[in-house]
Amino acid sequence: MVLANPTGTWTADDGAALYGLDRWGEPYFRVGAHGQVMVHPRGERGGSLDLVELVKELQGRDLSLPLLIRFDDILEDRLERLNTAFERAIAQYGYAGRYQGVFPVKCNQQRHVVEQLVETGRRWHFGLEAGSKAELLIALSLLDDPEALLICNGYKDQRYIETAILARRLGRRPVVVIEQPDEVERIIAASSELGAAPYIGIRAKLSSRSTGRWGSSVGERAKFGLSIPDVLASVEALRAAGLLEDLRLLHFHIGSQINDIAVLKDALQEAGQIYGELTRLGAPMGYLDVGGGLGIDYDGSSTASAASTNYSLQNYANDVVATVGECCEPHGVPVPTLVSESGRAIASHFSVLVFDVLGAGALPGAVPPTADDEPLILRNLRDTLAAVERTGADAGDPADPVSCEPLQEAWNDALKFKEDALAAFRLGYLSLPQRASAEQLTWACCQAIASRLEALPLGTPIPEELQALAAALAGTYYANLSVFRSAPDTWAIDQLFPVMPIHRLDEKPSRLGSFADLTCDSDGKLARFIDRGQAKPLLELHPLREGEPYWIGLFLGGAYQEVMGNLHNLFGTTNAVHIRLADDGRYSVKHVVRGDTNAEVLQAMEHNPDQLLERLRIASEAAISRGSLAISDARRLMAHLRASLAQTTYLEG
Ligand SMILES: *Cc1c(COP(=O)(O)O)cnc(C)c1O
Repeated sequence: MVLANPTGTWTADDGAALYGLDRWGEPYFRVGAHGQVMVHPRGERGGSLDLVELVKELQGRDLSLPLLIRFDDILEDRLERLNTAFERAIAQYGYAGRYQGVFPVKCNQQRHVVEQLVETGRRWHFGLEAGSKAELLIALSLLDDPEALLICNGYKDQRYIETAILARRLGRRPVVVIEQPDEVERIIAASSELGAAPYIGIRAKLSSRSTGRWGSSVGERAKFGLSIPDVLASVEALRAAGLLEDLRLLHFHIGSQINDIAVLKDALQEAGQIYGELTRLGAPMGYLDVGGGLGIDYDGSSTASAASTNYSLQNYANDVVATVGECCEPHGVPVPTLVSESGRAIASHFSVLVFDVLGAGALPGAVPPTADDEPLILRNLRDTLAAVERTGADAGDPADPVSCEPLQEAWNDALKFKEDALAAFRLGYLSLPQRASAEQLTWACCQAIASRLEALPLGTPIPEELQALAAALAGTYYANLSVFRSAPDTWAIDQLFPVMPIHRLDEKPSRLGSFADLTCDSDGKLARFIDRGQAKPLLELHPLREGEPYWIGLFLGGAYQEVMGNLHNLFGTTNAVHIRLADDGRYSVKHVVRGDTNAEVLQAMEHNPDQLLERLRIASEAAISRGSLAISDARRLMAHLRASLAQTTYLEG
């Protein structure tokens, strides 16, 4: 049900609380005095931007919605927070080693993003992790800090391994992580071929199980990593080949978005013991790479539920540092440099997707005028409506509060009469206009009941059947976006992102709704929303206003969504911009990345736009000769086609 706020007036803070902005948004997104979302790209360090004004000004630069706005300051801030958290933990626990993280490129391979991270990360010698040859090429080329680690994961053929070995000679610091047993032989072969070795790491399959979606990323059946017998066999093979000297790193990764910190602790203990054993076997070691998995609190509930975490960034760093220290120090094992491959935790916050609503499905709720010879079914519906309206008459009396019973009865009646009306229509007893009246009267009953429920005192228990009424009244908001392109995880793995209007937060939302996207696919929708550790199917939304845009933001989607997004229905990438806060409180647009044009998505499918146009030109010539198309219309048709090819794939408002 729409939030009951029977007393006081609705304020912008109520809006922020309703959408959880005051929980998941901290410290980057807050509500402004006029009910708009404010972005604080530097967190608590000051400076803010009005997101609505920003979108208006970007539109003025001919950047149409949907628009991906990347705040480079937030990216920097995340990296800084991660490093600071480890520095604090290291100081607090007196850990004798350091932290030196890497960014997994697969999380967001966009050039400006990787370049920004390399640039910002320089002061901590922050590195990159690559999982394929193409990612290796990005990492090798962009990461020019000789002390930063370049972790090479993923399946590796001979060329991948040789590339990594030669990169060491370039002055880079690549670590080839053995993820499959047969990679050991390939590393040995490549090293003898080139007369040089890479730094070598081993990824271990841990028995500690993660919960949640990625739980199966660990354990004996995991896709990657070596079982303990394979770890031992690899160590002996490296020793025999004279390469044990180069074994420097132990790696594990227990899956993305670890919700429960207890799982991480188990894994850390297990890995800490394996690390100690490897040093005792004679490997020099030096690095323990705890993988990714550092989670994001998407719904702000701070729980171990799927869209949240029951720990903070600082808790995470503390546990890594303390647990590894406890595993090593008592056994006289020198503590390793700690490496993490946090992707989601670095890249989620900095990008905001803003899309516009093209329209909303309206319910046919107006009461039709009474006709002279109305059939019984329609008269029944009118009586039901009148009964509901009478219920409201004494609603103001606190001594005799409205009970839900008559409302529930009316709702059941309305549904029954609507069914009767449909049956009568099928049998030919009701005309089409009469059926339309029956539908309108049913919705009018619904709305009348809903408005009485809203007036109930806070905390009045509402029967389940009547709760379903809210869903029946919910509207579909048509969104200028493709979820397959811009938020594929919502479709593929039921990922929740905070989604909310970026303005009108000081206005009580009076409707419930969900979003349907532009694709011709019934899965193309946003119909699961954050709800404090759970998910809800409908979001509180505002009625659309004539001639005014309604802008929705999808937040925390900076990781994985862009590259996983696809061309379903040939909707291409959206326009994207990189924004920097300037010291005078203004901002600068650092990069503009134009979205795919229709011509580009056609080419991606091997079509030739010129040829397509030419065929249509020939067809219009034929139509002109037949006399079925005027020359001026042919010209207009060709002009539309040409203009569309040069434009983005989305609607232009
Ligand atoms: C995907 C992946 C990561 C990144 O995980 P996040 O949950 O985004 O931090 C790190 N390491 C490996 C090996 C991965 O496959």
